[in-house]
Amino acid sequence: MKRFPLGFFPTPVQELSRLSDRLGGPRIHMKRDDLTGLAFGGNKTRKLEYLVADALTGDCNALVTAGAAQSNHCRQTAAAAARAGLECHLVLGGERPPNVTGNLLIDELLGAHIHWAGPYRKGETLPDVERELTDRGLRPYMVPYGGSNVVGALGFVSAIEELVAQDESLAGQLTHVVFASSSGGTHAGMMVGAKQARLNCRFLGIGIDKEDAVDRMAARNIVELANHTAARLDLEHAFVAEDVELDFRSAAPGYGVVGKAERGAIRLCGRTEGILLDPVYTGRAMAGLINAIALGEFQPSDRVLFWHTGGSPALFSYADKLGSPA
Ligand SMILES: *Cc1c(COP(=O)(O)O)cnc(C)c1O
Repeated sequence: MKRFPLGFFPTPVQELSRLSDRLGGPRIHMKRDDLTGLAFGGNKTRKLEYLVADALTGDCNALVTAGAAQSNHCRQTAAAAARAGLECHLVLGGERPPNVTGNLLIDELLGAHIHWAGPYRKGETLPDVERELTDRGLRPYMVPYGGSNVVGALGFVSAIEELVAQDESLAGQLTHVVFASSSGGTHAGMMVGAKQARLNCRFLGIGIDKEDAVDRMAARNIVELANHTAARLDLEHAFVAEDVELDFRSAAPGYGVVGKAERGAIRLCGRTEGILLDPVYTGRAMAGLINAIALGEFQPSDRVLFWHTGGSPALFSYADKLGSPA
């Protein structure tokens, strides 16, 4: 499968010993996909390398995708389109806010065309936009929500390959990989990558979206995506629902709602390691890891890799929730 270069790989891995000490927990390393380098970086860069190559193979001339107003996926798609010389159309939830900041500001700076979708933030209106663009004579390439289909998931199959090649000894010692999980492409790609690389550790996704019927749905979608991705690679393995570990305990307040747990995790990581998490995904995922450590769910001998999936531009749009009180 072809790959259109968009990021700087391998992203660094570093040990967070001050954070581990503070938490009294296992050794924690971090994979810095916030540093992929594409317009503030993030995990979508990996998926987009495969998606953009696919768009160019199909002779498309516009990328179209959807998300929330502060979507990191949309921001990286806008940058990828610019790099590949494609038009970018973003279908964003809500209305254009009076003060344009964070990811939305960057979308506009990168030249993306924005279609406001009111109550829809998951691409429900994408078919209408596709028709509109086709009628105008464009050849749109539809990037799925979160970049999560088989093509996008290949980015995380190769991410695991990258990790093993980067530090085989660390990779072999890992007991857990912890990360923010939402549309599932990251999770599914990692599971397939680990199977292919014979990496034996748990992949613990921290659910970002509210827990309701969605959690079982999410697990089913991830299994299905993992199986389709494995099939694409001729990997003979059938994943089952029990292979998907998703922890929704931190997601109860709902998508993008920043509370004490996220604020605490962002401040702790910033103040012990000088690393910025984001309010919606990695802040919540770190809060989930902190909670699980506090509940004694890790052994001192465990080795945890926290996969930083990016998102820091959204910090500025949450200034009112993240500022004082401490
Ligand atoms: C999209 C995103 C995720 C979730 O990745 P999925 O593949 O959609 O599950 C995690 N963190 C950040 C910062 C993201 O932008």
